[in-house]
Amino acid sequence: MFNEQFFAYRFGVDGMHDGKTLMTNADAVTAYIKDNINTYPEIRLTDMMDNLVLHIQDHVWLWPLQADGSMVKWNTVRQAWERYQAPAVPDTAVTPLTAPTPPGCCVSCKQVFSHLNVKTALGWKETKISGMCEVCWDKLFDDDGDDGEDPEDALLRNDANSQGM
Ligand SMILES: [Zn+2]
Repeated sequence: MFNEQFFAYRFGVDGMHDGKTLMTNADAVTAYIKDNINTYPEIRLTDMMDNLVLHIQDHVWLWPLQADGSMVKWNTVRQAWERYQAPAVPDTAVTPLTAPTPPGCCVSCKQVFSHLNVKTALGWKETKISGMCEVCWDKLFDDDGDDGEDPEDALLRNDANSQGM
């Protein structure tokens, strides 16, 4: 690993470093980390081309990753590295299960309220109260296990579809 030299930087809570320290072997790096990690929230190691080769921030070893892909964090009390689970980053591309239901959608099935899932005036009223469509609301209180569709409803839907053509 040490066929070249590295520079170590330590960053204070103000985000500023106080100059680079030349590292010529792995022991020097280990010692540098141990000497500074309790006091400095951020430690970086760069190669001569200024490429980041090691990065510790807020006591979390960010780079390089551990051999098994996990992350470790320095426990300043125990003075030891321990496994660290990074907090989940909100991902706008994926809707988490706990995401608020957009207005006008059923909180249960997430479908937009329409004549397909709300068929009565009482049902529309219920969407305002429970946030559920009539289908889900009915299912909630329908514990005879019969999920079959009322033939009359199917007939009405067919009518609605054919009218739209
Ligand atoms: Zn629903």
